[in-house]
Amino acid sequence: HCVRVCMAASCQSSGAGAVLEGLRQHAKQDADGGVHVKPVGCMGLCSAGPLVSVDATETKTDVMYKDVTPDDTGDLYASLGGAPLERLRCPTDIPFFACQQRIVLKNSGIIDPEHLDDYIAAGGYSSLVRAVTELTPADVLREVKQSGLRGRGGGGYPAGLKWSTVAMSPEPHKFVICNADEGDPGAFMDRAVLESDPHRVLEGMALAGYAIGAEHAYVYIRAEYPLAVERLKKAIKQATKKGLLGRRISDTTFNFEIEIRLGAGAFVCGEETALMASIQGLRGQPRPRPPYPAEEGLWECPTLINNVETLANIPSILDRGGDWFKGIGTETSTGTKVFALAGRIANSGLIEVPMGIRLREIVEQIGGGIPDGRRFKAVQTGGPSGGCLPEQHLDMPVEYDTLRSAGSIMGSGGMIVMDETSSMVDVARYFMEFCMTESCGKCVPCRAGTVQMHGLLDKIAEGLATQADLDLLEELCDVVQATSLCGLGQTAPNPVLSTLRYFRHEYDEKLRPES
Ligand code: SF4
Repeated sequence: HCVRVCMAASCQSSGAGAVLEGLRQHAKQDADGGVHVKPVGCMGLCSAGPLVSVDATETKTDVMYKDVTPDDTGDLYASLGGAPLERLRCPTDIPFFACQQRIVLKNSGIIDPEHLDDYIAAGGYSSLVRAVTELTPADVLREVKQSGLRGRGGGGYPAGLKWSTVAMSPEPHKFVICNADEGDPGAFMDRAVLESDPHRVLEGMALAGYAIGAEHAYVYIRAEYPLAVERLKKAIKQATKKGLLGRRISDTTFNFEIEIRLGAGAFVCGEETALMASIQGLRGQPRPRPPYPAEEGLWECPTLINNVETLANIPSILDRGGDWFKGIGTETSTGTKVFALAGRIANSGLIEVPMGIRLREIVEQIGGGIPDGRRFKAVQTGGPSGGCLPEQHLDMPVEYDTLRSAGSIMGSGGMIVMDETSSMVDVARYFMEFCMTESCGKCVPCRAGTVQMHGLLDKIAEGLATQADLDLLEELCDVVQATSLCGLGQTAPNPVLSTLRYFRHEYDEKLRPES
């Protein structure tokens, strides 16, 4: 038997470490039992952690257990080989699992993220080895272009186009950067991917390096993700030792070295020009674009920046082909998307779904609906740059362009569900406070505008504002959006604008008459 214990950050925080230890003790005492207790990454249903899964030996499918405590480990261990322990059983045929399609999370919750051999046994690094020994960089580039993959960090820029720009540059030095500075409130997709399957991201980076002609790369990751950092460091060491990273990969002439740079907690460092400044040891502030990083990036060399999820798709695209990937999702948004489901929803956690899925399916089926008999009010996508979508948009397909036309964005994948008790003015105020605090202060519209907008939202929320204040808020939204230097300021008004678009009555109800 193989017993897997989720040891990603969320299950660890609910006590998975003690569960793992308990099961290991039982296995130790039962040395002839042939039970292998294995720590694995995120299984997805974080709200029901600690999660344990037992492979299908007697049963047709794997058996999953939820809310496991150290006291349960004796019963759970004793049940191995017999009937599943019903009192802890978490059905795996529920829509939460059944409606997902896993590419990026394929190994998540199955392999031990700290064991390279586990990743290799699951087919890992085969795409890289095949690419460097049998394919040309142009072949790799062609597959990525063919896949239609768009950047998963939020912008949705076609990955193949970005890769081609860097690949075409005659400059001798180029860089690859993996942006793991995930900072949206409620978002934890990149953290989970790095904690659960770090080699997948490294393999994606190496394939990118091969395709564009770069030999040096950085993972820029926030220091607040200690477990992901630790696993990443271990993974780089293991892959280098095995000749899968570093010099002369698979005995070819291709060299690819990856270093880690820790972010110091500034949200704006997720913006690519600020991120590069930070890597170079400069103050993490954005600069105007153009020049774009693909033309002039790190130390003025062409630089490819992709986020964790984008890169994690690459090994599968190379393995199964761009056409296969293109066949998933919709015409303009291909493949799958990982979302972090949070807020007032029964099943919160990490999910991967095909693009084009209806929001309603995510909220009502996969998410299990709103708990405590309350009504759905809105779903917030895209973090501080995104917006809130009401009930009438629940049947909208999840695609880059449809979300944008409805006043939100795909963003990196944070999805916060709100019920009838949420005040949309408070939601807008919360996100504005976030942007105000995180503004780097380089340009006036954002530095001063976010403070002013937050003050007005405060006044409205407290019932002290008049119509003139609301008019001023709307005017400021337009100005800040149009004149800020980087994405943080340009999108800071989005939560206000989308809540005004769909929930204006909540603002109006709080206004007091002009005196
Ligand atoms: Fe800094 Fe805001 Fe200006 Fe961006 S928009 S450069 S975060 S002040």
